[in-house]
Amino acid sequence: MRVLVPFGRRKMVGVVVEIADKSELPLEKLSKVEAYPDAEQLVLTGETLELLNWCWRYYKHAPGEVVFNALPPLLRKVEGVIPPLPVQYSLTAAGGKRLQEPPGRIKAQYRLLEEMREGAATDSQLRKLASTWRKTLARLLEQDWIRSETQEPAQLNPAPGPVLLDEQQAAVTAISDSLGNFHCHLLDGVTGSGKTEVYLCVLEQILQQGGQALLLVPEIGLTPQLVSRFQKRLGFEPVVTHSGLSEGQRLAAWAMAKSGLARLVIGTRSALFLPLPDLQLIILDEEHDASFKQQDGFRYSSRDVAVKRAAGLGVPVVLGTATPSLETFNNAAADRYSWHRLRQRATGAAEPRWRVLDLCQQTMKGGISSVAMEAIGETLAKREQALVFLNRRGYAPVILCHECGWHAACQRCDANLTWHKGSNRLLCHHCDSGMRVPVMCPECNADALQGAGEGTEQLEQMLASVFPETPLLRFDRDAVRKKGEFDRLSDQVKTGESCLLVGTQMLAKGHHFPQVTLVVIVNLDQALYSADFRALERMGQLMVQVAGRAGRDRLPGEVILQTHYPQHEALLVLLQSGYEAFAADLSADRQAACLPPFTYQALLRSDAHDKNDVRAFLNQAKQIFPTGEAMVYGPFPAMMERRSGRTRWYLLVQADTRSLLHRQLDGWVPYLNKLPAARKVRWSVDVDPQDY
Ligand code: ADP
Ligand code: ZN
Ligand code: ZN
Repeated sequence: MRVLVPFGRRKMVGVVVEIADKSELPLEKLSKVEAYPDAEQLVLTGETLELLNWCWRYYKHAPGEVVFNALPPLLRKVEGVIPPLPVQYSLTAAGGKRLQEPPGRIKAQYRLLEEMREGAATDSQLRKLASTWRKTLARLLEQDWIRSETQEPAQLNPAPGPVLLDEQQAAVTAISDSLGNFHCHLLDGVTGSGKTEVYLCVLEQILQQGGQALLLVPEIGLTPQLVSRFQKRLGFEPVVTHSGLSEGQRLAAWAMAKSGLARLVIGTRSALFLPLPDLQLIILDEEHDASFKQQDGFRYSSRDVAVKRAAGLGVPVVLGTATPSLETFNNAAADRYSWHRLRQRATGAAEPRWRVLDLCQQTMKGGISSVAMEAIGETLAKREQALVFLNRRGYAPVILCHECGWHAACQRCDANLTWHKGSNRLLCHHCDSGMRVPVMCPECNADALQGAGEGTEQLEQMLASVFPETPLLRFDRDAVRKKGEFDRLSDQVKTGESCLLVGTQMLAKGHHFPQVTLVVIVNLDQALYSADFRALERMGQLMVQVAGRAGRDRLPGEVILQTHYPQHEALLVLLQSGYEAFAADLSADRQAACLPPFTYQALLRSDAHDKNDVRAFLNQAKQIFPTGEAMVYGPFPAMMERRSGRTRWYLLVQADTRSLLHRQLDGWVPYLNKLPAARKVRWSVDVDPQDY
C-alpha cells in the first residue's frame, strides 16, 4: 500500500511492504504516516510483492528502488492517484436518433457517435478519431447522447489463422499441455518461421478460459503493426505499455492490468512487473535481445525475472528467438527447458544464400566493395529491393585533420565524436554532448578536416550518387526520429517497389520486408577480435537477424558478408553449420575459459570524477571480501573508462555456482556503504552483468 510520509520539509511516497511489531529505532525517532492516497487500494499484489522481494535479494539492490521500478511513474509521485476503472461509452436513445440525422457542422461529435453505433467504445478507440476527443466526449455526455459505464473485460472474438505446420502444432500442443504448471519453453525459429502464430494459438486458449497473458518484446519491436496483428487475430485491443507513452497512459495500462480488464498486455521490459491477477502465461519474444537487461539503476534481466515470476505463479513461460542467448541455449541443451525448433519457413521461402566476401585488396567505395556494389546494381536492375546494413549511424565515426592528425574526441568520455554531416554537428553517442563542426582544425588551423570511416548517413549519400534513379530509405535513430516515420518508411518498402534500404540494427529486428532479396552486411569485423567475451555471440545473433531480412517471401535471397577475416573459425561455423552449431562451439569455449553461463558473475561498479577515489573504494571493498569459494578480481577499468566525465572501474566476483556467488555477496554488499571511501563514489552491484 502507498503512504505519504514527511521527509525533511517535503512529503514523499512510500510503500508499505511489511508490518513489524517492533522497531530498531526508538519510537520518537519514527515519523507518522501522513496519508493513504489510495484509500483502501493496494498497489502491489501478494504475488508481485513476493517477486520484488526476490528481486532485491537477488540483485542486491535497494528495496525502495526495486519497488518503485515496478510502479507506473505517476504512482511514484505525491500527486499521483490510482485512477477509477476505465469506462466505456455507448449511445443513449437520443444519441441513436442523432446518428440518423446527417452529420451537420460538428463532424467530430458525429464521428465519435458513429464509433458507438455497433456497441460501446473505449477511450483508446475514441482517441484516434479527433484530437479534441476529450472535449467532444464531454459535450456528448452533457447532451445525454451517450452514457458512460464501467468497462467490460475485452471479449475474445478470434479470426481464423493459417493451418499450423507440424512443428508449430507440436509447439502449441506442448505449451498448452503445460498450462497451469511452471515450465520453460524455448521456441527456436528464425523470423518468419511462424513463432507469432504459435503465440496466437496459445493465447487464444488462455483468453478463452478468461486468463490473462503477458507478451514482452524488445524496445524496438513494439510496433503498431505488431499490435494490430494481435488485435485482428484475437478480435480485441491488447493493452500496450512502454516507456514512450505518457505517464497517464502508463498508469491507465497499469490499472487495466490490475483490475483484470486487460486480458493481454503487450509491453517492453518494465511491463514484467504489472499486477496481473489472472496471469497464466508469459511470453518473451526475441529473448536474446540486450534491451531486456536494464542497464542502470536496478539492473535486472527481464528474462530471468520472467522465468522466476512464472515459477512463482506455476505457469509456463515461452522464450522465442532465432538466436538463443547462450544462457537459454544451455538451459535447453540440458533439458531444463523444452526446445521447440521451427526449421521450416512458414511461408515456404528458401533460406538465404550466404556469400562471404574477402575485403583484402578489394576496391572499395565508401565502405562497399565493388563486388557488393555490382550485386546491388543487379538486384535493382531486376526491380527488386536491396538492404545495406551498417551498425553505425552518422556520417563518419571520427573526423580528423589531414595536416596534423588532430581528431575530435569527447571531452567527457573515452570516445570519438561522430560526425553528423546533415546537422553539421559532432556528437558523442555515449553522453550526447556535442558541438558544431569546426571549419578549420582547432589545433593547427589548417583547412584539412575530413571524416574517417563510414556511417549510415555517408552510405546513403554515396549510394544515392551511384543509383540516382532508385528511392533510398534510411533507417536509423537520426532518420527515424519523428513519431510515425518508421511506419511511413516501412509502408513504402512494403509496396514492393524496387528500392534501396540503408540502416542500423533498427532494420535487423522483427520487421517483415518480404521483397528484399539482397542483404549486404558492410562490416562486423570489430566483433571478431573484441575484448568482450560476448561480442561473438552478439555478432552471430545480429548476422542471423539481418540475414533473415533476405528472401522472406517467394523470392530467393542472398546475403553478402564483407569481412577482412573470411577464415575466422566462428564465422565459418556459423555460415556452414548454422547458429545452433555456432552456439555449441561458443559454449564449449566459454566452458573451457570458465566464463558464464558456466560460471556466475557479479560486478561491483564504481564511478567518480576522480580516478583515485574509485580505486581507493574498490581496493577497500576488495579487502573486506569474505574468504570463500567465490573469487574477487580487479579493480579493472571499465571498457569505456571515462563516460560523461566520470571514471568507471569495477571489481569482478566469480563463482562456480549461483548459490556460492550469492552467499559471498550477501556477506559483503551490506558492509560496502560503511567503507571510508564509499562517500566519495557512486557504486552499484550488477548481478549477471552483460557489459563490463
Ligand atoms: P515469426 O513470428 O517467427 O517471425 P510469423 O508468425 O510472423 O513468424 O509468420 C511469418 C509469416 O508466415 C506471417 O505472415 C504468418 O501469417 C505466416 N504464417 C505463419 N504460420 C503459417 C502457416 N502455418 N501457414 C501459412 N502461413 C503462416
Ligand atoms: Zn590540424
Ligand atoms: Zn561523451
